[in-house]
Amino acid sequence: MKTYDLIIIGAGVVGTSIARELSRYKLDIALLEKEAELAFGVSKSNSGIVHPGTQNPPHSLKGRLCVQGNKLTRKIARELGVDFKEVGELIVVFKEEEVPELLRLKKEAEMLGVRGLRIVRREWLKKHEPNLSQEAAAALYAPTAGIISPYRLVYGLSENSRKNGVEIFTRQKVTVIARTQAGFEVTAAGNTFKARYVVNAAGLYADEVCGLAGIDDFRIRPRKGEEFILDKKKEHLTNHLLFPLPSKTSKGILVIKTADGNPMIGPTAEDCDDKEDPATTDSGFSKVLASARKMIPSIQESDVIAYFAGLRPVAGDDFIIRYEQKAPGFVTVAGIQSPGLTAAPAIALLVCSILKKNGLCLKKKPVFYKHRKKTIHLFAEPLSKTRELIKKEPAYGDIVCRCEMVSAKEIQDAIAAGASTLDGIKFRTRAQAGRCHGSFCTTRLMKILAKATGRPLTKITKKGCGSEIVKEDRADA
Ligand SMILES: Cc1cc2nc3c(=O)[nH]c(=O)nc-3n(C[C@H](O)[C@H](O)[C@H](O)COP(=O)(O)OP(=O)(O)OC[C@H]3O[C@@H](n4cnc5c(N)ncnc54)[C@H](O)[C@@H]3O)c2cc1C
Repeated sequence: MKTYDLIIIGAGVVGTSIARELSRYKLDIALLEKEAELAFGVSKSNSGIVHPGTQNPPHSLKGRLCVQGNKLTRKIARELGVDFKEVGELIVVFKEEEVPELLRLKKEAEMLGVRGLRIVRREWLKKHEPNLSQEAAAALYAPTAGIISPYRLVYGLSENSRKNGVEIFTRQKVTVIARTQAGFEVTAAGNTFKARYVVNAAGLYADEVCGLAGIDDFRIRPRKGEEFILDKKKEHLTNHLLFPLPSKTSKGILVIKTADGNPMIGPTAEDCDDKEDPATTDSGFSKVLASARKMIPSIQESDVIAYFAGLRPVAGDDFIIRYEQKAPGFVTVAGIQSPGLTAAPAIALLVCSILKKNGLCLKKKPVFYKHRKKTIHLFAEPLSKTRELIKKEPAYGDIVCRCEMVSAKEIQDAIAAGASTLDGIKFRTRAQAGRCHGSFCTTRLMKILAKATGRPLTKITKKGCGSEIVKEDRADA
């Protein structure tokens, strides 16, 4: 049996960032993911904000890694062909008495190295954010805040890691971690993987994975965030990301721009116990809508076209990133709540240095493929380019998802890149993500997926085993 230098458990943005960073070196690496596809954990259900670093305690690890991650993300996004837009954020206050609080946030963020911050006043806000409530008194403007598609970032990172030699295994839930003389034997879905080092990047389950290795000194409690997506026709509702003053446990309810064009409002922040609870609630919606309307009074209930909830993996106030002396060779990356998406590339660098310090030899490969070809999305292309594409490849002219204008060619490319479920196709291409939620295109998508993978329609799932869509094939289908 092959012995890997390193196994990474969990293929969210953190695990895939670590995998890509380590794939620069002469190492045999396995990345194990329990779900049917990558980015099906917390990394699929967040706000997609690349935070500038304005709302973290100045001496926190997450604050430092957020600021560093903000700088690194733009470079990585460029290399991987993932769109990153620097849209800037405004932390808005409605009373003059709250301006000192903005000054405090500014000072703390500057201590962390955040650049370009300034306080803007009512006149500036009226000019640059015309839909913002007239009641807004001032804001802290952070120009380096950006937006990115969290799942497309994970797919970019994982595809590039694979090209650089990382072996990626899905549907591999790690259930046993045994210590051996040479390192670890990790059992997942009946398979055994051997490695000298293990990195635990298991998100909400990082405490349980640590438990398998005999480390039992922290617990992860989910903190639910409900988010509500608005129709794309509201794309220009705001020019910036709008934040209220943060509370102790959250950044508050935001009006968010997203990489796909739909604005979003949310998230809530409620501690809960169930790590698998994806439900949104009426009370969450009312709270979010009321808070969002305080910022942008013109938002209507009927603007909301979809919703989801994400669970932040909370293990205290800060990230836990450490070498486990109790289990030599084991690195824990846990409690990666917000701003984990932003901090991921900086977390990856920190993990590399922890591994190096603890004996992993990091020798650069002669060739590291740092670039990945940008995936074509018709919705992001001008009409002239679309015409050219169709001339070269007619399947670009075969539109499968009309709401989001996704072609058969894009679906085929997504499947070739690893999508094996309907959600995997949705996250990669946006097919089913529009107003009709796939009412029009789901059947066609299932047929394309069945044909490409040689599976019957009864084996096509929304997000893996147990989420099959149909019970039987109809003979005439
Ligand atoms: C509502 C909400 C909004 C947020 N907004 C932002 C934001 O705007 N900006 C920002 O920077 N951050 C944001 N965050 C935080 C960010 O989403 C997370 O910090 C980040 O996604 C964590 O990534 P991860 O890779 O650690 O976790 P995950 O994405 O959950 O990855 C862990 C993976 O491990 C797998 N796994 C678990 N157990 C096992 C096992 N036993 N065997 C194999 N695999 C296993 C899981 O299936 C999962 O895929 C937000 C979070 C939430 C919930």
